Amino acid sequence: MATDEMVRSDQVCKYFGALEVLKGITLTVNRGEVMCLVGPSGSGKSTFLRCINHLEQVSAGRLWVDGELVGYQERAGRLHEMHPKEAAKQRRDIGMVFQRFNLFPHLTALENITEAPIRVKKQKKDAAVTRGKQLLAQVGLSEKAQAYPAQLSGGQQQRVAIARALAMDPKLMLFDEPTSALDPELVGEVLDVMKELARGGMTMIVVTHEMGFAREVADSLVFMDAGVVVEAGDPGRVLSNPEHERTKAFLSKVL
Ligand code: ADP
Ligand code: MG
Repeated sequence: MATDEMVRSDQVCKYFGALEVLKGITLTVNRGEVMCLVGPSGSGKSTFLRCINHLEQVSAGRLWVDGELVGYQERAGRLHEMHPKEAAKQRRDIGMVFQRFNLFPHLTALENITEAPIRVKKQKKDAAVTRGKQLLAQVGLSEKAQAYPAQLSGGQQQRVAIARALAMDPKLMLFDEPTSALDPELVGEVLDVMKELARGGMTMIVVTHEMGFAREVADSLVFMDAGVVVEAGDPGRVLSNPEHERTKAFLSKVL
């Protein structure tokens, strides 16, 4: 397995009962690259991210993160479900940011960030706090360390959520419509943090309708519809010269 592939999805399928939500997703994301995933509501974008992050189990096909099969182990040519402890270990290296910020309401911004490093990674409190403050500075919120989520704007909460994910030192960041729940004037500050992260070399998969971001930041753009990859390629090319009717129809609605 070439180690420059951070994510490799080979014919990944996902069923919920009789409903086939992912119908053979094949794609790769190389280390240090940003992939934007776009497509109509219900096309399976969140489900795909959730499969990468062990929130859903792949029904068929194979998915690797950093060369390791997600959720399964291969022995003697057969796949065996991974022990939950192993799965939890894989998941620890993947950061996820949701549309809704999901911060702990009873913890300060800084405590939200240091909680997992202390509890899950068993970091010393001092070290976690030092790192937490660095991360707050990175997302432009140094002065909000002691603020509770209810005292922060949506954009600020989302930036804390990003810092919280980064506190676990992930090798991959997944963003599921991170700006969709924000008032329009707050979108830019969150996208700016994500741009900086991309410039710093973070590998990212971003589900978004922000085509400006995709054009400026992404190395590849994948258009999904009804559980299949319809079209993928250089964002500038896909956006200005889509090959498929379904891509054109979708882009005409979001651009
Ligand atoms: P998107 O993120 O592109 O809007 P989703 O991945 O959320 O799409 O959903 C794709 C399809 O899978 C939808 O039809 C949705 O209703 C269905 N789905 C998602 N999660 C579940 C679930 N846990 N059980 C049953 N159906 C689900
Ligand atoms: Mg979704």
